[in-house]
Amino acid sequence: MSGIEARLNAISAIINYQPSHAPLNFSETKPTDIFGSNVFSDKVMKERLPKHVYKSLRNTITLGEKLDASLADVVANAMKDWAIEKGATHFSHVFYPLTGLTAEKHDAFLVPDGDGGAMAEFSGKMLIQGEPDASSFPSGGLRVTFEARGYTAWDVTSPAYLLENPNGTFLCIPTAFVSWTGEALDKKTPLLRSLQALNKQAKRVLGLFGVTTKLPVGSYAGPEQEYFLVDRNFVFSRPDLLIAGRTLFGAPSAKGQEFEDQYFGVIPRRVLSFMMEVEHELFKLGVPVKTRHNEVAPGQFEIAPIYESGNLATDHNQLVMTTLRTVAKRYGMICLLHEKPFAGINGSGKHLNYSLGNAELGGLFDPGDTPHSNAQFLVFCAAAIRALHKHGALLRATVASASNDHRLGANEAPPAIMSAYLGEQLTDVFEQIKKGEVKGSKTKGIMNIGVDTLPPLPMDPGDRNRTSPFAFTGNRFEFRAVGSSHSIAGAQVALNTMMAESLDYVATELEKLGKVNKTQFNQGVQKLLQKIMQEHDAVIFNGDGYSEAWHKEAAKRGLPNLKSTPEALPVLTSKDAVALFTKYGVLSEAELKSRQEIYLEQYVKTVTTEANLVIRMSRTVIFPAAMRYQGQLAETCASMKAIGHDFKMVTLDDVTAKLRAMQTEVDKLEKLLAHEGGDTLKHATYMCEKVLPAMLAVRGYADALESVVADDLWPLPSYQEMLFIR
Ligand code: ADP
Ligand code: MG
Repeated sequence: MSGIEARLNAISAIINYQPSHAPLNFSETKPTDIFGSNVFSDKVMKERLPKHVYKSLRNTITLGEKLDASLADVVANAMKDWAIEKGATHFSHVFYPLTGLTAEKHDAFLVPDGDGGAMAEFSGKMLIQGEPDASSFPSGGLRVTFEARGYTAWDVTSPAYLLENPNGTFLCIPTAFVSWTGEALDKKTPLLRSLQALNKQAKRVLGLFGVTTKLPVGSYAGPEQEYFLVDRNFVFSRPDLLIAGRTLFGAPSAKGQEFEDQYFGVIPRRVLSFMMEVEHELFKLGVPVKTRHNEVAPGQFEIAPIYESGNLATDHNQLVMTTLRTVAKRYGMICLLHEKPFAGINGSGKHLNYSLGNAELGGLFDPGDTPHSNAQFLVFCAAAIRALHKHGALLRATVASASNDHRLGANEAPPAIMSAYLGEQLTDVFEQIKKGEVKGSKTKGIMNIGVDTLPPLPMDPGDRNRTSPFAFTGNRFEFRAVGSSHSIAGAQVALNTMMAESLDYVATELEKLGKVNKTQFNQGVQKLLQKIMQEHDAVIFNGDGYSEAWHKEAAKRGLPNLKSTPEALPVLTSKDAVALFTKYGVLSEAELKSRQEIYLEQYVKTVTTEANLVIRMSRTVIFPAAMRYQGQLAETCASMKAIGHDFKMVTLDDVTAKLRAMQTEVDKLEKLLAHEGGDTLKHATYMCEKVLPAMLAVRGYADALESVVADDLWPLPSYQEMLFIR
C-alpha cells in the first residue's frame, strides 16, 4: 500500500467505524452488581472456606500475621472450584518483573487421572509457589543463567481474580517473584518489604502520641492514569508508534493544545464507549475506578480510581494499564501509555496520590480538628518534608526512564528538582514553628504545638500548584513525576522507606524525652519540629517550578537537579541509598545494583531501538517520498524550460537542500550508533548525550520536509490526523 493510500484508508476506516459488538447495558447489569464479581473476594472466601480457615486467612490479610501454610490446600481447593464454576480452565501466577510490565504464565487445572480421563487439580503448593522458567527476565546479574530459576510466591494480601477472554477465563494469582536465594527480581517484593518497615516506624511514633492500632499502618495510593488514544489504522502506518510507542517524526499540527478546548471537554462518542467498557471490565475485577475525563492535549484522557492500600493499588494500576490497552483494540484504537507520544503537546504522567494510615486510624496526613491530632499531623507532615529533603534524588531516580525523560523538566510536568508544595497556610504554620522558640512563649502568630489548632487548610484543587513534583493537597501528597507507563511500585518503595527512616528519627528523638507529662511532650514535639524545619525547609517551595529563577534558587539551596536517566539512576547505588534500603531491609546492595543495571540497560535498549527506527524510517519512508516530490518538481522545471521559460524553482532547491542535509544527519547518526559504549552507565550517558541529539537533528529536517512535500506524497499520517480524527 502506498503511503497516501494507507492514510486515506485509515481515515475512511475511522469515518465508517461501527462497533463490532453489542453495546453494554448498565440498566440490566448495574455496576454495583458486577463490582468484584471476578474477584476471589472476602465475601467469596467467607462463603466458601471453613470458618477457621477463613479467619486465619483474614488475619494474614488484614493484620499481617504469618500465613498458616497448612491451610493452603483448603484455600486452593475453594479457589479452584470457584474459578472452574466461572469457566476457568487455567491458573496463572501473575508477577511484576523489572521491565515494569505484568507477566503471566498459564497452567491448566487439567491433569490425567491415570484411567485415560482427566481431572482438575490445584493444590496448596501450586497456589503458594510457582516456578516459571524465568531466565528471560532481567535479573541484572543476580541470577546466572545456569541457575535461572526464580520462583513466584503467593501474595495473600492481593486477592486472586479471573481474567476473561472471549474463549474462556483464567485464574490469576498475584505473586512476588524472587530468586532461589531470596533476592527480589520484581517490583512487588520490595514494596511489601517497605510496607513492613513503614508499619513498624509509624507505630512507634503513634505510640508516643498514645495512639494504638491493631491494623498495620501502610501507604494509600491513588494513581491518576493519563493516556492517549489513536486510531489503530494510523498506528499501522507509523512504525515509530507501533514499535516505540511514540512518534519520532512529525511536523506540528496547525492546531495543538493552545486553545485549551480539550481539557474536560465533551468526550468523543467512540472514546466514551471505550471508557465505559474499560470501567465495566475493571468493575468486575474490583478496581474502584471513579473519574474519567479529557486531558489537556488533543487525544489525551485520564482515568482515576478511588485510592486503596498501596500494594493493592499497585496491582490494580497494572490491571488498569492492561485493560486500557486491550479494550482500546476492540474499539479500533491503540492506547498509548508512553510519556511523550507526540512532540509539542503535553505528555502523560501518573500523579501518585500518597498518604499513610489504615482503616482504623484514617489518614495520617489528614489534619485533625483538635490540638492533639494537629500535633500528630504536623509530625507526620514534617517527617515527609525531611524525607524528601534527604532523599529527593532517590525519589527522582525511581521515575527515571528513557520515555519519562521527555516529560520531566519540560514545561508540562514537574521539573526534575524535587521540592514540596505546602500551600500558604501550612507553609506559614511551619514558618512559625521554625521561629517558635525565639521568645520561649507564645507570641502573636506563633503556634504552640499541642495547644493551638491549625488554621483551616484548604482542599481546593484550584489552589494547587501544578508545577510542584510533591504537592500537599489537603490530606495527601501528590507525587507528580511518575510516568504514565511506570509501575507505581518503585516510587512507593522509595516513599515508604524514606518515610520509615524519617519516622524512625522522629520516634528516636521523642523517646529521648523519657517519661514526661503532656506539656513537656508537646514542648518536645515543638522543639523537634523546629529542628526539622531549620534543617530541611529548603525543600519547601510554593512558587513556579518551571521558572529559570527557581532552577537557580534550587541550586543555591543544594537541591539536586538530575535532568536525565543516566544522571539519576546512579543514585540507586549511592552510599545514602544503600544505607537507607539495607537498614530497613527493603533492598540489599546487590539488589540495588541489579536494579540500576537493568534500568540502565533498558534505557540503552530503548534509545537504540528508536535510533534504528529513525534511520530505517528515514531511508525507506521519508527519503523516497521527498525524492518523488523532487522528481516531480524537476520534471516541471524541465517542461517549463522546454517551452522557453527561464525557470528557477525555489521549492526544488529547498527540497534538495533539506534532503541532502537529512541524509548527512542520518549517516552521522548511523556512525554514532555503531560506536561501542563501554559499561552500561557510560553507554547510557553516550546514548543520552550523543545519540538522542543526533536523532533530533534528523527529525528537524524530516519535519521541515513534511511541511513542504506535497501532501499526497507524504506517507506518514500527520499529527493533525492522529490527534484530531477519532
Ligand atoms: P485531582 O485530579 O483533583 O487531583 P482526582 O479525583 O482525579 O483529583 O484524583 C485524586 C486521586 O487521589 C484519587 O485517586 C483519589 O482517590 C486519591 N486520594 C484522595 N484522597 C487520598 C488519600 N488520603 N490518600 C491517597 N490518595 C487519595
Ligand atoms: Mg491530581
